[in-house]
Amino acid sequence: MFEIPIRMERVLHRLKELAHCSAGKRGVTRLSFTSEFRQAGLLVRRWMKEAGMVVRVDALGNIIGHYPHHRRGGPAFLIGSHLDSVMEGGAFDGTLGVVAALEVVQALFESGVQTALPLEVVVFCDEEGARFHTTLLGSRAMAGTLLGEDLNARDARGITLADALREFGLDPLAFRSAKRDPEQIAGYMELHIEQGPILENEHLPCGVVSGIAGAVRGRFQVEGLAGHAGTVPMDARRDALVGAAEIILAVEEAARKSPSTVATVGNLQVFPGSSNVIPGRVEGTLDVRSLDDEERRRVFRQICQRAEGIAENGSLSFCCEVVLDTPAVQCSPRLMAAAAEAITHHGYPPLFIPSGAGHDALAMADLTEVGMIFVRCRGGVSHHPEEYVEPEDIEIGVSVFLEAVLRAMDSHPKASSTGQTEEAEVP
Ligand SMILES: [Zn+2]
Repeated sequence: MFEIPIRMERVLHRLKELAHCSAGKRGVTRLSFTSEFRQAGLLVRRWMKEAGMVVRVDALGNIIGHYPHHRRGGPAFLIGSHLDSVMEGGAFDGTLGVVAALEVVQALFESGVQTALPLEVVVFCDEEGARFHTTLLGSRAMAGTLLGEDLNARDARGITLADALREFGLDPLAFRSAKRDPEQIAGYMELHIEQGPILENEHLPCGVVSGIAGAVRGRFQVEGLAGHAGTVPMDARRDALVGAAEIILAVEEAARKSPSTVATVGNLQVFPGSSNVIPGRVEGTLDVRSLDDEERRRVFRQICQRAEGIAENGSLSFCCEVVLDTPAVQCSPRLMAAAAEAITHHGYPPLFIPSGAGHDALAMADLTEVGMIFVRCRGGVSHHPEEYVEPEDIEIGVSVFLEAVLRAMDSHPKASSTGQTEEAEVP
C-alpha cells in the first residue's frame, strides 16, 4: 500500500480553530444549533470546499462533503464524527474524528488517489445530547431511526429541537429526508478519542474498537418516611437515604462480580433535602453497560432484586423504571480487520477494546456496517477541559485511520481498485 502523506500542521491548526468555537472560557462548550456551533460548522464547510469537496447540509444540520466525480460510482463509504460537545468538555471529543476525516479525504485528493469507492465525510450535529438530553440526533436521522417525538425534546430553556432547527434555518418537518439508503452506503468508520485508560495503560497510541456497549438506564426511587432528625429514635426510622446508600454499594458489588459489566449511580436527589429532616425519599439514576446484552440485563435484574431486599429490611419501598435500553453493537469484522491491519502496518500490535461510551457509530449500525479506531487520550480523561491527546498520537491515529479507510474500501465487494489518477487536481 502506497504511503500518502498527511499534513499535521493543518490537522493541529483545525483542531485549534474548532476549539475556539466555544461558549465558555473553561474547556469547550459547543451545544448543538448555537452560534458557536454555527461558527464551527462554517469552518468545516469552508475546509471541505478548500479540499475540493461538494458540501451539503441535511435536514438535521449534518454536514456532508463528497467528491462529485468519482470514476466508477458504487455505494459511498462514510467517515466522520460529531461537532457538538458537552458543557465544559474538551477539544478532541468528536472534533478529532471530524478533522481526521477531512485530512483523510484531502490527503487522498492531494496525492491524486482515486479510492475504490466514493468517499464521504459526514459531520454529525448532535451526538452528546447535552442540549436536548437525547443523544445521537444526527446519526439517528441519517440511519432513519430518529422519531417524530424526538423533535419535541426540550433544552434547559424550554426550546424544542424543532424550534432550534427552525431557528438554525432548517426544516424540522423534513427530518426524514436525512435518512440514507442503505444500498447506497458501503460502511461507516470513525476515529475517536478512547475516553478511557486502556490504551495508556498498554502504552499504545491507538486501538481497534470491537463494539459499543449496550446500556440500560433506569430511574429509581426509594421511599421511606421523613421525620425530625432530633426526635425520631434510630430504631424507629425509615431513612430512605440509608437504604439508597446500601443499594449503591450493592450496585457496585454486582458490577464488580461481572467481568464485562460496569454500573453507575450518577445522580441522587434527597427529599426533602434538609439537614434536620430524616430523608423520606431518594430518587436516583442507574446506568448499567456491557458489550454482552444478556449479561447486562442479568446484572440489572440482580441489582433490582437486591435493592428490593434491602428496601424490605429497612421498611422502605424500592422501584425502578427503565428509561433507556439500547443493545450493544458489534463492530464489523471486515472493518475491524482493516483497522487491525493498518495498526500492524504502522508497527503496533492491534489491541481490541470495547467502547463503554456511545458514539454515532452506534446509530449508524442500523444503516450500515461500522468500525472505529480509538486514539489514546491523557489519563483517559474526556468530557473535561483537560482532555488531551499528544500530537504524536494524533499523527499516528490519522495515518492509521487513512490506511484503515483505504483497506476497508478495498475489501468491499463492490470496490473497484484503488489507484493514482490523473483526474484529480488540487484546488
Ligand atoms: Zn464523542
